[in-house]
Amino acid sequence: MRLVLLGPPGAGKGTQAGQLSKVWSIPHVATGDIFRANVREGTELGRRAKQYMDRGDLVPDEVVIAMVMDRITESDCADGFILDGFPRTVAQAEALDRRLRRPSVPQEPLDAALNFEITEEELFRRLVTRAEKEHRSDDAEEIVRHRLEVYHANTKPLVDYYERQGVLVVVDGMGSIDEVNRRIRDSLEERVTSP
Ligand code: AMP
Repeated sequence: MRLVLLGPPGAGKGTQAGQLSKVWSIPHVATGDIFRANVREGTELGRRAKQYMDRGDLVPDEVVIAMVMDRITESDCADGFILDGFPRTVAQAEALDRRLRRPSVPQEPLDAALNFEITEEELFRRLVTRAEKEHRSDDAEEIVRHRLEVYHANTKPLVDYYERQGVLVVVDGMGSIDEVNRRIRDSLEERVTSP
């Protein structure tokens, strides 16, 4: 199963990806988590990414693309992966497509791009709760607003991109974690016979 998860920050992608990764025993590759780990460890990648993350801007494509392409080439991704927070731009989506189509790499195309839909009101409610719990420096209100603008400008076009490819699956992201999880599994089971 090769999935990408789309949707604004706070839509529940990380929570759902974590659960699905356990159910299907495939890695949950969350670019934001990888960057935060690198910032904590003080690596060169972390130093490069931090300035963008603190402002709520996107880390430059070439940095993110190189990181994700390396990660999905690791052996644990051979049978599938869940990409959470990548792609976030059309250039990133095109780089992923090129990689998955490369004949030398035994990777299959994407099974689905899940787009989490959620009202703006619910997003803010969740992000405020997350800011209280996780103390993420980019969950401050103005930064959240900026991240939503960045999402609308750069990432939203990916909904059409994947719709044109026929892999878009719309997920109603409102409701409890279990309800959303059930919806995702039901809609994927309709599409894919064996995960
Ligand atoms: P997230 O945890 O997915 O909300 O990501 C936190 C931050 O990491 C984002 O606001 C960006 O600064 C950076 N980031 C994560 N994924 C990407 C990506 N695919 N492209 C560019 N920047 C990213």
